Amino acid sequence: MGKKDEVSNQFLETLEFRGVKRRDFLKYCGATAAILGLTELHIPKIAAALESASKRPPVVWLNFASDTGCTESFAKATYPGPAEVILDVISLDYNETLQVAAGKQVEEVLEESRKKGGYILIIEGGIPTKKGFGQIGGREMLDVFKEMAGPAVAILAVGSCATDGGVPAGNPNPAQIIGTGAAMKKLGIEKPLVNLDLCPVNPEYLVGVVVNYLLLGKLPELDSLGRPVMYYGQNIHDNCERRAHFDAGRFVEKFGSKEEGLQYCLYKMGCKGPMSNSLCPKVQYNDRTSWCIKAGGPCIGCSERNWVDKFAGFYQPLPGVKIPGLGGVEVGADTLGAVAAVATVAGVAIHALGTKAAGRFKGHDDGGDK
Ligand code: SF4
Repeated sequence: MGKKDEVSNQFLETLEFRGVKRRDFLKYCGATAAILGLTELHIPKIAAALESASKRPPVVWLNFASDTGCTESFAKATYPGPAEVILDVISLDYNETLQVAAGKQVEEVLEESRKKGGYILIIEGGIPTKKGFGQIGGREMLDVFKEMAGPAVAILAVGSCATDGGVPAGNPNPAQIIGTGAAMKKLGIEKPLVNLDLCPVNPEYLVGVVVNYLLLGKLPELDSLGRPVMYYGQNIHDNCERRAHFDAGRFVEKFGSKEEGLQYCLYKMGCKGPMSNSLCPKVQYNDRTSWCIKAGGPCIGCSERNWVDKFAGFYQPLPGVKIPGLGGVEVGADTLGAVAAVATVAGVAIHALGTKAAGRFKGHDDGGDK
């Protein structure tokens, strides 16, 4: 490591104290470099950038309508990995779930941050727009958001509740909950917004955005839904460890079956991987130990907009997926087995649908923010 990129012993000691070994930290930096499209030569720079995160713009984390699962996805790891610790050492000035203080004392901290401005605002949870349906300290969440969004340098919407309302905004949505982008539009707020869809957010995605900002001085390239391409540019089905079973026509048809034990493809159990874009199979959760499909659950498509309503019936196979190679034959749970002989064609076709042709479900609305 060159002098300029040197990571201080103090920082490494802090990591060690929190249970993260130097070797694991550098391994993590290497994995982050790969996702950012950088070579191993950049590992020292990434390590140095992560260290400097603690001296960078402060972060204010607001919780609105959600179960705080995104906070918990990094705060309640069995043992904290590099991503969790790094998020912890970022200058997190305000987080209602994690901070020890409460009441007037923290409201003063929030007000102080607002006056100083220049912070990164992290939004967790959807924003109720119907009066009286979502308040903090007697104030409407929409008003709190408006007040804090103004002085922020950039806004990160973490988790699907924040990006489009998520579960709390599911039909019939009595609180008229909307996502961060929609709230900004409604309030006429214009500033950089990064959407990190998933339920819950992957803490590594959040750190990756921060690293990108620290290393390159800008937010990462975003797709049409405001999601970083580096994390949402690939299809889950394409990278899935069970993909070979899909291609060979080997499916789980019942939980508790022998096929489930053999970890066959979960398509017939409702897996929405073919229509979902995220690096889940590669980055995984809990310090890269597991993710939904590895743990035996079909993907529920939480990386996609309006997934709660769109994919309702989580254990129902994707309807209306057409296979061009079979002259437009519609494939569902009962027909896929019959076409196992041409399953490779199906795999390619469904992948193409997933990555390029959102909206081919019957009645499907890929939509933007609610
Ligand atoms: Fe993996 Fe689901 Fe695709 Fe099967 S359908 S290969 S379980 S993503």
